[in-house]
Amino acid sequence: MKTLVTGSPAEAAELIKKGGIVAFPTETVYGLGANVFDADAVAKIFAAKLRPADNPLIAHVANLAQIAELTVEIPQIAQKLIDQFFPGPLTVVLKRSDAVPPIATAGLDTIGVRMPRHTLAREFLAACGTPVVAPSANISGRPSPTTWQAVIEDLDGRIDCILQGEATEIGLESTVVDCSAQPPVLLRQGSVSIEELRRAAPEMAVYQGSHGDAVRSPGLKHKHYSPRAEIRLVDPWAAISGSDLENTAYIGLTLRESEFAKVRICSSAEEYSHELFEFFRECDRLKIAAIYCERIAETGIGAALMDRLRRAAER
Ligand code: AMP
Ligand code: MG
Repeated sequence: MKTLVTGSPAEAAELIKKGGIVAFPTETVYGLGANVFDADAVAKIFAAKLRPADNPLIAHVANLAQIAELTVEIPQIAQKLIDQFFPGPLTVVLKRSDAVPPIATAGLDTIGVRMPRHTLAREFLAACGTPVVAPSANISGRPSPTTWQAVIEDLDGRIDCILQGEATEIGLESTVVDCSAQPPVLLRQGSVSIEELRRAAPEMAVYQGSHGDAVRSPGLKHKHYSPRAEIRLVDPWAAISGSDLENTAYIGLTLRESEFAKVRICSSAEEYSHELFEFFRECDRLKIAAIYCERIAETGIGAALMDRLRRAAER
């Protein structure tokens, strides 16, 4: 298959309407989209990404009215989160309507819903005229793409189209909150932090499931975010020594004077998050063997960053 690269949201949306799959930028990472109501198109996403069938997709909407097409009810707490955080990098999980084909939600009776705030994403979704399910536009297990070139790297020839935009603003995937039961549960950390969520919903719980617990958020049990290089988490001032620095890299907030092959010092947790996945990919291009990643405080987006680092470090 030839993958069309276009800057036109209308042209990209035409391919969605014809049952194709299209990568598009959002404020979090690039997504790989299909019409939520077209089961054959949704199946193409799983095939292109080599994504396990038990990992549910998030439906992206252009406006609040589309949420009603996907769900049976919006509980009060979900409505509060929607009022406060939509459009933006928050996904709410709600009871799904029967119109949604089971393949889109990995057979669950719930569906994750998000309204991006990214201008090009919104133009694209509006032109599609339907909610669009989209996981991150990478081969399953790899770091999420934050540039259209990273999408090419993983999916060229496997998808119909890439809607070409800038590098994504946040660089980590959306925060996911399950609102289908009481109390609401934070399933996945993101740039909307637990501190912000608890200001809106003080009863918010945090998911503590282990790898084996597939019930609440099946996707969390899969291998994720991994470059080919080995990930080693280090404390800010920990000594890193040895003769093997030559083929290693470092990313963090604290200045280092060692002889790493590649170093990225960021000035904030936000910049670290923005850079992380592209740094992973760049290290793979350079055939770096190991990447030292500095641990940071788990407040604000730091919690999401540390979650991704821990998962990336799992082998
Ligand atoms: P990705 O599209 O790669 O960012 O992955 C989406 C993630 O959102 C999944 O791996 C799940 O962890 C979570 N998710 C999406 N839909 C649901 C749902 N209906 N119930 C629970 N978790 C969900
Ligand atoms: Mg993903």
